[in-house]
Amino acid sequence: MSTVKEVFKNTERALADAGIEDPEFEAGVLLEDIGGMAPAEVQLSPESEILPEKAAALAAAAKRRSEGYPLQYIIGSWDFYGRRFSCGEGVLIPRPETELLCECVIKYFAKRPAPRIVDLCSGTGCIAITLAKEIAGAKVTAVELYDAAFSYLERNNAAFGGCVSAVQGDALESFGEFDCVVSNPPYVAAAEMPTLQKEVLKEPETALFGGEDGLDFYRAIAKNWYGHISSGGFITFEIGETQGRAVEAILKENGYYGVSVWEDYSGLDRIVTAMKQ
Ligand code: GLN
Repeated sequence: MSTVKEVFKNTERALADAGIEDPEFEAGVLLEDIGGMAPAEVQLSPESEILPEKAAALAAAAKRRSEGYPLQYIIGSWDFYGRRFSCGEGVLIPRPETELLCECVIKYFAKRPAPRIVDLCSGTGCIAITLAKEIAGAKVTAVELYDAAFSYLERNNAAFGGCVSAVQGDALESFGEFDCVVSNPPYVAAAEMPTLQKEVLKEPETALFGGEDGLDFYRAIAKNWYGHISSGGFITFEIGETQGRAVEAILKENGYYGVSVWEDYSGLDRIVTAMKQ
């Protein structure tokens, strides 16, 4: 039988050889999830033995990861804003930049309790569920069109006590009245699609491709939902790093005011916020 230390080193080496950026971190995630070992165990009991079937499962996972399959799909979940969300093929993986989108909404409603919020193109539901949990009295509706993604949304919603209303439908078909529209829509432009990392290309194209210039969803959502936002309401999008000015213009053309573009942790334009009079 191999030891924990040997298996960790083998996993790390396999990932490093495949050019994975942070092989130590990813080996730790795989050991914890597939090997069932807490990170401390690798440090504290490096000589303890690992069952052959676990070692084999880890080797298989490392191979899959080395071939460019996303780590998050291998382990079937990922953390977002301090909570763990199920994810897998057919749904966009929760990303740390998207936490900033949630923060903008949480700040806006810090002194305005019980907002009605709609999250469009909801995917795993990580945005909707975070807002439902973090904003006092929030009533959150999550809209997702595609079957595979919608089933993750429903599963995550159930895991968090059914805190949002999940609606399967087209984000461009507006309904109801809300104090906030929030969305991380597909925003990758046609020319950029082939340049995406191989891991990202394993994610659904329907969650990435935003039309020729990547802006189709911003145009449609800004226009179609304007009449469904209350006076003093808020709209916010995650955007691609080159899209700040264009999305600002779209929001202004559609009658919103107070448009601001915010940067992510890497100093790239990532979030646009605006209000309705
Ligand atoms: N941020 C994603 C990327 O890695 C795109 C997600 C989206 O289109 N909403 O390209």
